[in-house]
Amino acid sequence: MGIYIPAGMGTNMIKSVLIFATAAICFSEASMLEAGAESLSQNVTIADSTNHWGYGYDSLLRDLAIWRTHPFVKIDSIGASVEGRAIWMVSITDSGDSLGPIDDASSRKRRVFIHARTHPAEVQAHYVANEAIKQLLDTGSKAEELRRGFIFNIVPMYNPDGVELGHSRLNAHLVDLESNWDKGVLEPEVTALKRQFEAFQAGPNPVEVALNLHSDQFNCTRFFFFHFAAGTSGPYEDLERNFIGRVQARFPGGIKDWDFVKSWDNGTQLRYPEGFWWSTQQEKVLALTYEDTNCPNAGRFDSTGRALVLGSSDYIQSRVLVAARRLARAVPRVLLLPDGVRIAGGASGSRWELNDLRGRRLAGGVLEGETSLLAWAALPSAPFRILSISRSAQAVERIRLPVRP
Ligand SMILES: [Zn+2]
Repeated sequence: MGIYIPAGMGTNMIKSVLIFATAAICFSEASMLEAGAESLSQNVTIADSTNHWGYGYDSLLRDLAIWRTHPFVKIDSIGASVEGRAIWMVSITDSGDSLGPIDDASSRKRRVFIHARTHPAEVQAHYVANEAIKQLLDTGSKAEELRRGFIFNIVPMYNPDGVELGHSRLNAHLVDLESNWDKGVLEPEVTALKRQFEAFQAGPNPVEVALNLHSDQFNCTRFFFFHFAAGTSGPYEDLERNFIGRVQARFPGGIKDWDFVKSWDNGTQLRYPEGFWWSTQQEKVLALTYEDTNCPNAGRFDSTGRALVLGSSDYIQSRVLVAARRLARAVPRVLLLPDGVRIAGGASGSRWELNDLRGRRLAGGVLEGETSLLAWAALPSAPFRILSISRSAQAVERIRLPVRP
């Protein structure tokens, strides 16, 4: 979301803008766009686009051809731009079948989605995305572990027309894709990304971390746009702090603290992709904009790409542990009583199933009250019987029942 100074802007204005940007809110998200900067940004002359800021669509095609040779890479087009260029998504995961039931926190692959270069001049965001891809294709054991447990989907060049046409922020329709998400008619690039997000959320491995990569030329540092509870929720703020802290820990001193910018302190900003995520998924998806530095101090893209990948993995793993603890607390207690089997303690909604020793189903059903009684008289008899209590597809309690109490 870097800021580009319109040609007509005077020195004093720039100075006051600089002070504002440093002292207060995320200037690019909240203020510049509201002030109509989108229509001005075509006049920008600061970043020279004659060579596509050093990395054009052809460069991407060359890199895609290299990545495609890796056994764990799949490359798809998620849709086409206004001028018909494919919007490429690089998917990285190993071929292991660790896809488990959706509610089994320990077995399914977790999904991280990264898209970059909404704003063509912010080529640093693209380099970070490329380094993230390189990290994931590394031959080391850490990369192997990431490919085993995660699916990473990376769109390194979300706005290919803008890159090719030399627009610093806009697409071929002269629209800023970043703030198009709440419009009645969406740009084709936004539609493509939104559909991809929706398809993943409807599948067995929904997105859990969604990163939107940009670079900023006023603050000249690396930071996230933190979304305050006024536009999200208190628990979401905790998740954001957890996430940012974990990324920072993977790049010590490299990325600013969570409170570096103030954003969404007056409500949800539906025009951004993060607004889409919050309004449809709430705490289920950690969606943040990351800003690299778009200044002469830019660099260390490898450290940043690595920190984003590892921080996402650390964050999701911490969430899996929390979910497992929560599940453990809700394990129902199974008591064998003279009149039947009593199941107590958060049992409502759980399924029960009685099997013989070979696993053949004898009976089953759904528990309705917090405490339920399965009467001995109503349970089919068999030489050996195993009673399983489960939530969704995951068994949380398994007990061998006596033939005769
Ligand atoms: Zn940007």
